[in-house]
Amino acid sequence: MPSDQSHCQKRITQVSTPSEKPAAPRVRIAPSPTGHLHVGTARTALYNYLYAKKHKGTFILRLEDTDEERSREEYTDDIIDGLKWLGLTWDEGLGVGGPYAPYRQTEKIDHYNTISNHLIAAGKAYLCYATTEELAALKDEQRAAGQAVRYDNRSRNLSSQHKDEHEAAGRIPSVRFMVEEPRVVSWHDGIKGEIAIDTADLGGDMVIVKSNGVAIYNFAVVVDDVDMKITHVIRGEDHIHNTAKQILIYEALGYDLPHFAHAPLMFDIERQKLSKRKHGEVVHVDYYRKRGYMPEAIINYLTQMSWTHPEGKEIYSLEEAGQLFDLDKVSKSNAVFDVDRLNWFNGHYIRSLPIALITERSLPFFTEAGFDVKAYSAEDIERIVATVREGLVMLCEIGPAVKFFFDQHPTIESELKESVLTGENARKVLSGLLSELGTLPWADHQGCKKAVDAIGKSIAIKGKELYWPVRVALTGTNHGPDLGSIISILGEKRVRERLEVALGLCSA
Ligand code: GLU
Repeated sequence: MPSDQSHCQKRITQVSTPSEKPAAPRVRIAPSPTGHLHVGTARTALYNYLYAKKHKGTFILRLEDTDEERSREEYTDDIIDGLKWLGLTWDEGLGVGGPYAPYRQTEKIDHYNTISNHLIAAGKAYLCYATTEELAALKDEQRAAGQAVRYDNRSRNLSSQHKDEHEAAGRIPSVRFMVEEPRVVSWHDGIKGEIAIDTADLGGDMVIVKSNGVAIYNFAVVVDDVDMKITHVIRGEDHIHNTAKQILIYEALGYDLPHFAHAPLMFDIERQKLSKRKHGEVVHVDYYRKRGYMPEAIINYLTQMSWTHPEGKEIYSLEEAGQLFDLDKVSKSNAVFDVDRLNWFNGHYIRSLPIALITERSLPFFTEAGFDVKAYSAEDIERIVATVREGLVMLCEIGPAVKFFFDQHPTIESELKESVLTGENARKVLSGLLSELGTLPWADHQGCKKAVDAIGKSIAIKGKELYWPVRVALTGTNHGPDLGSIISILGEKRVRERLEVALGLCSA
């Protein structure tokens, strides 16, 4: 009984470092398709991917879809799309040929049952006939008595008469694995160092196959990791107690242990664990994908969150990290997910990735905004993106920033009509430019800017008095990208029309 255990001598068993492992590691990401791809799962996938790259190993995707009530096909798609979008492509798994493709637990139900039957035959697991109501009542009693909630191992030694009675009553048993107590399970963790878990904290004998015949995660994961010859299990720290349970199952089945490494969990800047319930959609990779974040930025941000580049570099690619990453450089302390810092990385990548790529990634936002992209040449679309990318944190901001290029006539802010377009100087500037349009070097943005300066010089108007009326006429506002580029991209016809409309407002 649990209460006696503290008096017993605990058996400390070091089941850590497995003997010789194959040279090339086999690692996996094993998401459950019960929700969208979480940034924490993406980071775990990333660390597995990087470990595989660094050690020339194999990175595997496996879907842990045994939770039939919560698993959904749309989440599977989201996880697959999200991992691909991040560039975390797997060597084996869903959609990739090979001996284990596709990796889905639901396709192995019979296999888990066969193995659980071996455990029963070996006396290491047994049939438990406790009903949901009985187990709920047990929990209530334990809570009322201020005790930790745990299964009381009541079916461990059921007499065959009791079994027969339960069977006759139509009870369908689950399979429970015997958790040895007292006992401490310890291992050397690749990130956390020495870890020791008291089996008294594991909740009693654990269900490994539910009464509906479906294997439970802690059991299926061991069978799968063994079947797939996984050498290193790298996952979040929230699985530490599961690892202790799984080690007991490995032992019972006589399997070699893989290496375990538990990455610190992610918290927000106020030290709250990152969760869908508290934080909403911002914990999903999809949220960033839809808003035009750069996968390179997310990868760079997530990598450096708990790992330090040997040269202290902040900016580096997935490929570079894959040459340098190792588990011993992963921090043991909690990671902080700070959207402002992610935005800093994102801004950097929007400014520095090839303009053709940024343009390609911007186009869906142009379409979403209803812009007629065909109104400009492909080259000019690229120039439009180039004029505004400096000021963008995420690509979904591009629509409002470039709208004036696509509007028939830019909407001029009413206050600016008053303050910038009235007055003699505005009229002089706009008509001066209008009369020179035939001489502008249209393809040359610097030349276009110089032409405006020359007009200003000829009428002795400079600075705001010169530039603002032109900006307001062409874009509807008094700030924005480089004026020469705006003129050059809009081209003679649009500039002429816009100057004429603005001149009309000047004289009104
Ligand atoms: N399906 C588990 C999860 O999504 C996998 C944990 C593991 O890597 O073993 O948390």
